[in-house]
Amino acid sequence: MKLQTRLTILFVCISLIPLILVTAISFSSQRDELIRKTVEQLEVVADVQEKRLNEVLNHHLNTLKLVTASLAFNRQASYFDSGEDGAEELNRVLSDVKNAIPEVKQLSLFDTEGNLLISTNSVNGDSSSLSTTYERGQSRFVMTDIFKDANGQARVQLIGPVNIEGKHVATVTMLVSADEFISVTNDASGLGETGEIFLVKKNKSGDALFLTPLRYDAGAALTRGVSKAQIERPSVQALEGEDKVLLGKNNIGYNGGSVVAVTRYIDSLNWGMVVQMDRSEALASVDALRQSYSAIITMSVLVTILIVVMTTFAFVKPIRKMTLFAQNIQAGNFSMRTEVSSKDEIGLLAQTFNDMSAKLQMLYKNLEQEVAERTKDLKKFQMAVESSTQHIVITDEKGIVIYANPAVEQITGFGRNEVIGKKAGSRETWGGLMDKSFYKEMYKTLLEDKVSFTGEIKNRRKNGEEYITLANISPILDDNGEVEFFVGLERDITEEKRIDQAKSEFVSLASHQLRTPLSTVNWYAEMLMDGDAGKLNKEQKQYLGEIYTGNKRMVALVNALLNVSRLELGTFLVEPVETDLVAEVESIVKELESLVETRKIKLDVSLPKKALSIMVDPKLFRMSVHNLLTNAVKYTPEGGDVSISMKVIKDDVVIKVKDTGWGIPSNEQNKIFSKLFRATNVREKDTEGTGLGLYIVKSVAEHSGGDISFVSKEGKGTTFTYRFPKKGMAKKEGSRQLD
Ligand code: ADP
Repeated sequence: MKLQTRLTILFVCISLIPLILVTAISFSSQRDELIRKTVEQLEVVADVQEKRLNEVLNHHLNTLKLVTASLAFNRQASYFDSGEDGAEELNRVLSDVKNAIPEVKQLSLFDTEGNLLISTNSVNGDSSSLSTTYERGQSRFVMTDIFKDANGQARVQLIGPVNIEGKHVATVTMLVSADEFISVTNDASGLGETGEIFLVKKNKSGDALFLTPLRYDAGAALTRGVSKAQIERPSVQALEGEDKVLLGKNNIGYNGGSVVAVTRYIDSLNWGMVVQMDRSEALASVDALRQSYSAIITMSVLVTILIVVMTTFAFVKPIRKMTLFAQNIQAGNFSMRTEVSSKDEIGLLAQTFNDMSAKLQMLYKNLEQEVAERTKDLKKFQMAVESSTQHIVITDEKGIVIYANPAVEQITGFGRNEVIGKKAGSRETWGGLMDKSFYKEMYKTLLEDKVSFTGEIKNRRKNGEEYITLANISPILDDNGEVEFFVGLERDITEEKRIDQAKSEFVSLASHQLRTPLSTVNWYAEMLMDGDAGKLNKEQKQYLGEIYTGNKRMVALVNALLNVSRLELGTFLVEPVETDLVAEVESIVKELESLVETRKIKLDVSLPKKALSIMVDPKLFRMSVHNLLTNAVKYTPEGGDVSISMKVIKDDVVIKVKDTGWGIPSNEQNKIFSKLFRATNVREKDTEGTGLGLYIVKSVAEHSGGDISFVSKEGKGTTFTYRFPKKGMAKKEGSRQLD
């Protein structure tokens, strides 16, 4: 639902509900007041007419009393005792009275038994009714009946006793015209167009019988009746003995229409009186009131809706503008601005939108520039990657190639289309030739450790030719540390390897060839020094000593070179045997005792108390520890401290050689295990080094499952840590031992 519709409904409800409530309450109270007035009017008429009826009745009863009194006064009562003597006189009295009072239509005299004695006219009317009411007339003056006489004239019969000296001697009945009673109902003034008054009595069967003519039925008097079962009729209700106010729609008049009525039960006559009006007329003012209220409500609703629609439209209009504005921004149209027409919250919002749009426009511009610059940068990278002679491959997290540079095709012989979508370095491309253990190690590094892997890999070109690459594979991680891509760089080092191999073979050959003459020199020098060729003088001895020492160094160098070539050609062997490392280290320390002494070094040796038997190649172990300890002593100034310790830590045997010597310059530390490297700070102090010792120690450690590392600070000292598995060195097949 639209905002404007919702606001309109809300405001209309808020404003109209109270209005309607107030109007309804006011209407209801005014309506009640109008109805009350109508009822009051009907009741006033009813009360007045009831009073008049009683007056008419009393008037006639008084007349009858006068008649009986005059009969008694004339003492014609004797007649009642003596029979016919006074009959004439009585007849005269009755006729006089009848003639004197015009409304008296007949007077009759009955004895105490109810037998007619005299009558002014021949007796007519309902003599049976007379007999039933006769009893009543013996003690009281009452109206006994209303009926039509033989001439069709409505007559009312009254009855009363004649008492002489307290004794009931006779009864008089008097018929009078019913006109006076009926005339009471003629006066319907104040009852509007449809108002009327009528009288009813119960007939013998209990139904209501109209006594008076009706407004819409002039001949109804004493002829028309209403069944007592029709209790919705006011005429029936009027005879129930109580005064009633009948307002409901279900009160139906004698002509079938709905009426409003007030009823009275007149005890003295046993009649009912109905004062009624047609409901439509009685409540016409209520209807008029209802109409005017409806008109007011309709007008109010229309005006309210108009005002609310206009107000909400004015309220929603800037929001619509703002929405349009926001849609434009969403579509990338940042140049749009909206009008700030007020200083309220909407105005502030519009201003904020404008500022936001301006900022976005600027950001977008900058972004475009940045994108252009980055695209340029990316192009550079792309060109670098595309023109690189190194094989560069990008794969997804499963190792499926998604990019390969042109060098891949040059190196592997597989076209780019042939490798994209396939697993990098698998058998279906250029790889799969290495041992399972190699791949296992590689995948562990990449997928579990999630770090770069570097190693030499043997591959096969499309034409079947094998080649060796130096591969570096790096995982690229997403923000959650999960692998997203892999980037693989490979350099074809087959040729380098071949040259290295040739060099190593040459060095091996040359060293080997040099060893025989050097041994011969050594052997003959020793013989000469021992005097086997005659006694030498002091000067000869000194020169020969120099030759001997120089030759020894040459032998050591040649041996070292030979070891290096054996390491590089992979021909050396590692033969682990059970060896007591404690004894081995102690022996090395002993061997170096004279050197330690010469250099005035304080040597601290900390070894396990008991023998430590481990499967190691004793020659290689000795060579490694000897080299580390010799270096520590050699590269520590006189009087310095050197310590060697050996411990078993978890699964490793750990040997630490620590000195307080010259240390290794930090910028050269990365080259310390390189072949023939000697640090600049020791080259002048010790000219005899070869720069091959650490290279050999490191290679031996790595080939036998161990590891060597160091920490050093120039001028402070160095600590080398050599560790290999407690379970022993890994065995390696080969053709030669290292010397
Ligand atoms: P060499 O000792 O014959 O020179 P090495 O391969 O044993 O060859 O050592 C290589 C270089 O490492 C040494 O020349 C020296 O610069 C440095 N080096 C090795 N051990 C130490 C040490 N304990 N203190 C300082 N420098 C050292």
